[in-house]
Amino acid sequence: MVKTKNKNKDHHEHMDHNHHEHMDHNHHEHIDHSHHAGHHHHHGNFKELFLKSLPLGIPILILSPMMGISLPFQFTFQYSDIVVAVLSTMLLIYGGKPFYQGAVDEFKQKAPGMMALVSLGISVSYLYSIYAVVIRIVTDEHMMDFFFEFASLVLIMLLGHWIEMKAVGDAGDAQKSLAELLPKDAQIVLEDESIVTRPVTELVVGDTVRVQAGENIPADGIIIRGDSRVNEALLTGESKPTEKKIDDQVIGGSTNGEGILFVRVQETGEKSFISQVKTLISEAQSQPSRAEGLANKVAGWLFYIAVVFAVIAFFVWLFLADLQTAISFTVTTLVIACPHALGLAIPLVVARSTSLGASRGLLVKDREALELANKADVMVLDKTGTLTTGEFKVLALEAIGNKYSKEELTALIAGIEAGSSHPIAQSISDYTNQLGIKPISFDSIDVISGAGVEGDYDSKNYKLISQKEYGQELDIEVPVGATISILVQESEAIGYVALGDELKETSIDLIKTLKERGIQPLMATGDNEKAAKAVAQKLGIEYKANQSPQDKYDLVETLKNEDKTVIMVGDGVNDAPSLALADVGLAIGAGTQVALDSADIVLTQSDPKDINSFLDLSRKTSRKMTENLAWGAGYNFIAIPLAAGILAPIGLSLSPAVGAILMSLSTVIVAINAIMLKLED
Ligand code: AMP
Repeated sequence: MVKTKNKNKDHHEHMDHNHHEHMDHNHHEHIDHSHHAGHHHHHGNFKELFLKSLPLGIPILILSPMMGISLPFQFTFQYSDIVVAVLSTMLLIYGGKPFYQGAVDEFKQKAPGMMALVSLGISVSYLYSIYAVVIRIVTDEHMMDFFFEFASLVLIMLLGHWIEMKAVGDAGDAQKSLAELLPKDAQIVLEDESIVTRPVTELVVGDTVRVQAGENIPADGIIIRGDSRVNEALLTGESKPTEKKIDDQVIGGSTNGEGILFVRVQETGEKSFISQVKTLISEAQSQPSRAEGLANKVAGWLFYIAVVFAVIAFFVWLFLADLQTAISFTVTTLVIACPHALGLAIPLVVARSTSLGASRGLLVKDREALELANKADVMVLDKTGTLTTGEFKVLALEAIGNKYSKEELTALIAGIEAGSSHPIAQSISDYTNQLGIKPISFDSIDVISGAGVEGDYDSKNYKLISQKEYGQELDIEVPVGATISILVQESEAIGYVALGDELKETSIDLIKTLKERGIQPLMATGDNEKAAKAVAQKLGIEYKANQSPQDKYDLVETLKNEDKTVIMVGDGVNDAPSLALADVGLAIGAGTQVALDSADIVLTQSDPKDINSFLDLSRKTSRKMTENLAWGAGYNFIAIPLAAGILAPIGLSLSPAVGAILMSLSTVIVAINAIMLKLED
């Protein structure tokens, strides 16, 4: 499937998905749904903003001394401060805009954070510097300005956002992928039995559609003619293709097997299965993310501390000295609070961590998920395709008694299945081919409906039938949850074959490490009670069977309401809403596009072992982030009170030059520390 790249990916805007429902079907290639809403709003394309701000910012950095000290590459000339003032004004309007917009959003949510802090810093440094230029011109008296701090802050912040945006993968468009499960056209059977092909969008309730073998069913409905096996695994999580005949329900989007079906359409639009999943996904995506990034929290504290100290400094110094001194201390406090290093602290870790992840097949689409996974309390796991291979395979084929060797039995079983189109027959044929065993050619074969197959070979009668049909207890050891068929020769059981959805090799290890990590595993499957129980028992975990997409969604919601941090792992369409709703949605790479698009993290190899690697990555990333925040913001926490002049009465104050050097140092430390992130200890 071709993914439309979200060009303006930095533009997180909540969209009303329902709004586009019509268009979705008709021209889905053009719709560029914004993704995963509910994250912090970012305004604008930071790559473009940074690159265009650079030619404005660089001359400012060259022409204005840093905190009053002149760096080797800097120079000034007469009226150079006026040039700087003009450039700064342009930079403020162009490069500062996204931060002001972000700050407005934060204040609307009554939670000032990074954007508010940056806006405060750039506003104060800009305004004060302009004031300094005016004073210089009017009174000819020298006054220190903060143009260097202003320009460097804008540039570093834009750069940091660009790095971060670039690091995380493109968010997919689950709504679009969902629509693509339905065929574009349907074959409608008219009253005179003639067939016309019309777009699926024109289907109405009561229409009869013909579905050829191997096609996807265009709408929810009921079978009125024909029978077949329908694969609903991706939609419902049921592992085995289910037999469908007249009067059985089928779901739009599922795949028809061998037979031709005539289906009377019962639901279109809103009430259809696919639409309900769609609505659930939109609902999940419109919920605000609970993740408050640590960086944002720290920025919020800095914001309050800076404002409080600035206000106190102003009044105290006004009282102790004069207005000029008061303004100077206030401004220095606010400018010092500017977290240059903070602007890079997190983006550099994210960039490093996502590239480490990608090299191991862990694609990060949402950086908050990286942080949140480290706090996870519960992991909800889908069964089919996630913990198990999702394929109906031969798990065991054994002799009863010693009349025949295993090879002979396999050849007999494969031979008798030649007359059947049952999924069991298909799986046995794959199994035999793999072993290179040639099936025995039977003289005659008959299907015993709902029970098995029967045939003659070498003047003997053979049956391959269910245990129920065989009617006697057998002393055989069978894999839990497997479907058993017995090979009977003239009423004597000579062998059996067990088929089932096989547990992935690494699933057991995964559950073990989850428990070690203190994350409670919980399996939620759309499959039946028996199949679910077998797998859950083998893994030793709790489970819920027969879960609809809505049930899974409700489960995740309930857990979240219990204030638990929830990781959801899945691969199917039925998992998509809960993947979108969970704090961390982890999709298995071999899953449906809808699941991949709804998830925050994609594991490109479908190996449960990678879930563990992801948790490792998350833990190390969080630790790095914390370290970097300490290095990046620690300086500001100490410097703010000093800048406010708290220790000035005892002769200790932060000289601007020392402040500037410390600030640069903390930025460098943060960068080096980020690069040192490694996956293995
Ligand atoms: P069904 O209702 O078609 O799933 O069949 C019920 C049971 O009959 C299965 O669980 C098998 O044990 C047995 N059975 C049906 N068809 C076959 C077949 N082609 N080969 C082996 N066993 C079969």
